[in-house]
Amino acid sequence: MKILIVEDEPKAGEYLRQGLAEASFTVELVANGRDGLHAAMETEHDLLILDVMLPGMDGWEVIRSLRRQGNEVPVLFLTAKDQVEDRIKGLELGADDYLVKPFSFAELLARVRTILRRGKTGTEATSICVADLELDLLRRRVTRAGKRIDLTSKEFGLLELLMRRQGEVLPRSLIASQVWDMNFDSDTNVIEVAIRRLRVKIDDAFHPKLLQTVRGMGYVLEKPTSSP
Ligand code: CA
Repeated sequence: MKILIVEDEPKAGEYLRQGLAEASFTVELVANGRDGLHAAMETEHDLLILDVMLPGMDGWEVIRSLRRQGNEVPVLFLTAKDQVEDRIKGLELGADDYLVKPFSFAELLARVRTILRRGKTGTEATSICVADLELDLLRRRVTRAGKRIDLTSKEFGLLELLMRRQGEVLPRSLIASQVWDMNFDSDTNVIEVAIRRLRVKIDDAFHPKLLQTVRGMGYVLEKPTSSP
């Protein structure tokens, strides 16, 4: 599997290159948009990891140009800003997924594997469903059984993470780093509080209950296989 990384920050690029090489990928690393575009058009890659903020030609221009030339290589873009507009823009331009910096390497690897598993079928669904709960990534809207649910941006981020990784038990430490950009500190109950609020909104008035606490391990969102 061949991955092209376009990242102008040498340390970050090298870190990704090394990690992905250790995970047995063939990796090519370039440091600016123009070289990235050239490399992507020159050789076929299974995945392009594209930083948005690049000198000269930015990540948006690279993906736009690739798609215009009919290149459908899956793209995971890296954005430093946790901006709704950025995510929407990236997905609309045909990116397959995005990661907000800083992220853990484990998270990146998980996303990479998911995209590669999905293959080159092209457009990613813009909404995720678990039972009758639906999260619309483009409109940033959540509904359950057709009823609109209002969430804060942190709650949305938390739910998005749980839905993307549905069926997986997510430890608090992972949730903390992904949704709050913080290292997990067992003294804080910010995650418990957010989970409780989220549960009230998405589960209390509905059946079956989707958000489960796995004692001592974390949280999982899934449709129960059978409810006795
Ligand atoms: Ca950059």
